Amino acid sequence: MTIPNKVKKIAIKEAMKSQHRFKLGAVIYKKGNILNSGFNHANKTHPKSNVPFRTIHAELSSCLGLTRMQLKDASIYVHRVRRDGKVGLAKPCRYCQALLDEVGITDINYSSYSDNVLTQPLQTKH
Ligand SMILES: [Zn+2]
Repeated sequence: MTIPNKVKKIAIKEAMKSQHRFKLGAVIYKKGNILNSGFNHANKTHPKSNVPFRTIHAELSSCLGLTRMQLKDASIYVHRVRRDGKVGLAKPCRYCQALLDEVGITDINYSSYSDNVLTQPLQTKH
């Protein structure tokens, strides 16, 4: 599957902002329009929380701020940049897959080691 060139460019830009060992950027787009983008980062929780940090995955980050109407029938592309700068596998974790399905995203597209875009359609009928 192919994705718009500008979508890939923005996803790479977002991934480069990440301070994590695994740098991931995500872009939500619909009918050729980019709706939002994000990258994975640690978010500080309440000072008294047992867990000092929780990770905001790039997929969730890119969904934040969008309405259900915007997310419905949109697509997502996730891109991973490895430490050596090469492209990596960016298959979303099962929690993100469930989230993306829940909010109405129709297909998950993600980078692979060979720099091909892999696509996973989401089956749930909304
Ligand atoms: Zn995830």
